[in-house]
Amino acid sequence: LIARMRPFGTTIFAEMSALAVRTGSVNLGQGFPDTDGPAAMLDAAAAAIHGGRNQYPPGPGIPELRAAISAHQRAFWGLDYDPDGEILVTAGATEAIAASILALCEPGDEVVCFEPYYDSYAASIALAGAVRRPVTLRAAEGRYAFDPAELRAAFGPRTRLVLLNSPHNPTGKVFTAAELAQIAQLCVEYDVLAVTDEVYEHLVFSDAAAPHVPLAGLPGMRERTVQISSAGKTFSCTGWKIGWVCSTRPLVSAVTRVKQFLTYVNAGPLQPAIAVALESPPSYYQEFRDDLQRKRDRLCKGLTEAGFSVLQPEGTYFVTADITPLGGADGVDFCLALPERCGVVAVPTQVFYDDADAGRRLIRFAFCKRDEVLDEAVARLQRL
Ligand code: PMP
Ligand code: GLN
Repeated sequence: LIARMRPFGTTIFAEMSALAVRTGSVNLGQGFPDTDGPAAMLDAAAAAIHGGRNQYPPGPGIPELRAAISAHQRAFWGLDYDPDGEILVTAGATEAIAASILALCEPGDEVVCFEPYYDSYAASIALAGAVRRPVTLRAAEGRYAFDPAELRAAFGPRTRLVLLNSPHNPTGKVFTAAELAQIAQLCVEYDVLAVTDEVYEHLVFSDAAAPHVPLAGLPGMRERTVQISSAGKTFSCTGWKIGWVCSTRPLVSAVTRVKQFLTYVNAGPLQPAIAVALESPPSYYQEFRDDLQRKRDRLCKGLTEAGFSVLQPEGTYFVTADITPLGGADGVDFCLALPERCGVVAVPTQVFYDDADAGRRLIRFAFCKRDEVLDEAVARLQRL
């Protein structure tokens, strides 16, 4: 194995899901829903499979999916992307992120990101031979925030791009307009690119301090931003691995150059089904969000009653909790012992930090689960 991949073992998600299966625990670790997405989407996939759409789709993705992505971007975020040249369909957001970093970073280039970071970021940056420059999100007064001076200090002559995830996994933070403006200003000042991971774009709760705002919509950012999303979260089909990249023609062309040699194309018959899903009425998106907000409240209440100090998320389907009140000092030890102690699996968030101390006492629970599963998990955690 090449040296730069040696620090990366099995992903924490695979590890914790395997632990859940092995111990028969309630799995609130890996983020995947336990119900299916819209029936019209499932029917469209079955129809495509039985209707002979089973060969290689076109390189950038099938035209009706690119048209649906373009319409969705315009309807929700007021952003215009030409389906012909400014949109690329990928194997989930994971491939979109990897292909973007591989396409845009020379060895030694620096990537500014926020920690805790989604685990594939560090690996994709390492694969490119680039260097991550994490800026730490710290919890204060119930919200995660960064120090603007630390963000500025992370930029320098080797900075190539900023990798931003909002709404943010694992903290549930939604970056505010003021925070986005600081990031955009630095991108313009240092003339660098932004890659934005917006897979939770539809999961911002009604009591969040800010709505979701794509960085690409800020002044000077449309031409320097690679915007990424995925169908997995919004339509509860994480196993389908359909994601996309929206950007300028030259940037999409660069990412496509790499994508074509990673996977060439992906999931032909699932693409028309995602086009159908994206055309769901506005009420679908509203109900999806409201449903997850109720689940958030259900789990947060239960975790608080079980003794955790809960940081209520403004978005995503994850909640982070501090284990200190339960006598925990290290999230990894705590999560490894949890199945044995009470039959529940959670994820230690310290593995998403370079500065492990910053996340040592924090663990993450996923609440994209049926109410009875959440209730069972809470009942078990109350035995702690
Ligand atoms: N980014 C973030 C922040 C995520 O949480 C996830 C998946 N859970 C991904 C990217 C990967 O998305 P996909 O499954 O579409 O590859
Ligand atoms: N994104 C999901 C999570 O954060 C898991 C995705 C994965 O297992 N790669 O839990």
